[in-house]
Formats: sequence, structure tokens, C-alpha cells
Amino acid sequence: MRKFMIAGNWKMNKENDEAIDLTAELVKNVNDIKNVDIVICPPFTALFPVNKIIKSTIIELGAQNMFYEEKGAFTGEISGNFLVSCGCKYVIIGHSERRKYFGESDNDINKKIKRAVEVGLIPILCVGETLEQREAGHTEEVVRGEIIGAMENQVNKEKIIFAYEPIWAIGTGKTAQPADANSIHKLIRGVLEADFEMNGDNIRILYGGSVKPSNAEILLQQSDIDGSLVGGASLDAKGFADIIKIAAGES
Ligand code: PEP
Repeated sequence: MRKFMIAGNWKMNKENDEAIDLTAELVKNVNDIKNVDIVICPPFTALFPVNKIIKSTIIELGAQNMFYEEKGAFTGEISGNFLVSCGCKYVIIGHSERRKYFGESDNDINKKIKRAVEVGLIPILCVGETLEQREAGHTEEVVRGEIIGAMENQVNKEKIIFAYEPIWAIGTGKTAQPADANSIHKLIRGVLEADFEMNGDNIRILYGGSVKPSNAEILLQQSDIDGSLVGGASLDAKGFADIIKIAAGES
């Protein structure tokens, strides 16, 4: 069985003092958990202080984005190497908010994944459809297209983690029906096996979109859901810890 991963995407929340408090509280709540990979993705500014707190704990560090160039005249950007130097092991790539508000294309995302893998980061690649695309019956086509766009010509593909995040479910309180989400996870696994010659048994696909303690169990019971990418609910140490405990089979 694949190991569950529960990853928290803090988005643009938590100034450093708040980030430190949230992290310390989370450590208290989850430090004896076993068999779940726990990742937190604070804003760039909090990576370094948060890393100091989690260094000798089971919690691992991720970032929410990176640029694909290594260094140079790219004002305001952060490279993968910088993330590694702050202690990051993971990086979220292609989140729908990046695609929507910052115009990230499949080509940008493809380059970011390539660079992330080159510098030793584990990308968490996000894909998912809008409500309009879903209602028009285009979910499968959209998700397939985003996977293909991001994965073309990648090496070390087995390092990549995937997250299916239907956009209409992000931050809205609406969650995909567990069986519907599972069928898209199966589709993603199938595309990766058929088009990219990956071993489906080893591919981890997280579900994201309004995951909270009250719906985590039913989602995590689905055969192809291997964990969660949690936004809003990861800003509360107790709630996030409860989701992690559910994944660990402790509640
Ligand atoms: C996310 O931002 O990746 C996310 C899933 O957010 P939320 O849990 O708040 O829907």
C-alpha cells in the first residue's frame, strides 16, 4: 500500500510570528504519528524559521512555488536552489491560483518541474478543472491535458507527486464526491502508466479541495486517493492534526 501524505498549503497566510506559533502547535499535536508523510508549505518568508522548528521532527518542509531559472536578473523570483537552502524537500507546482492569477502555462509548469527535480526537490504537481469545464463535461480532457503538458520530456518522473484539485472545490467548502474524485485519480494514474511508462502502484496522487476533519476519512478510504493537499484547514493546528491522525488510522 502507498504511504499517505498530508500536505498543508498555507497560501499567503501567516507572518513569521504566526507561522512559528502554528508550527510549534502542530509539532505538539503530531510528533508521535507514524506512517504518514506530513508536509507544511508556508510562505517563502517563513520557510527558514519554520524549518528551524521542524528540523528534528517528522514534519517536512515544502514551498508553494519556484521559478525555473537558477539565478540572475529575475526580480522577485525564487529559485529551487534557494528553497533547498531553506530546508525544503517539496515544492507545489502549478497550483490553480498560480495558473489563474499569475498566468502560469503548462509550459511554465513543465519547466518548473524539470528544474525542481534537477535540484533535488520533490514537486507536487496540481491539476484540476473549473466548474465551467466540469459542467461542460470536459473534466477528463482538461486533467489529461494538464498532466501531459507538465510531464512531457521529464526525467526521474517517479520523484513527482500529483494532486487532483478540482478548482470549484478549492476554498469553497464544496468537496468532490469521493467516488468522483477517485475516478479522476484513476484516470491520472492511467495516463501516467500509458503515456509516461510509470509504475502506477508507486504513484502518489493527493486530493485537494476543502478537505477538513469531517470529510477526510471518506476521501482517504478511496482506493486511488493517497493523501490530501489541504489549504484552509491546514491553518489550524488542531484541525490539520486531526486530518493527519485520520490518515494514520488513529481516530
Ligand atoms: C489548496 O489550496 O490547495 C486547497 C486545497 O485549498 P482548500 O483546502 O482551502 O480548498
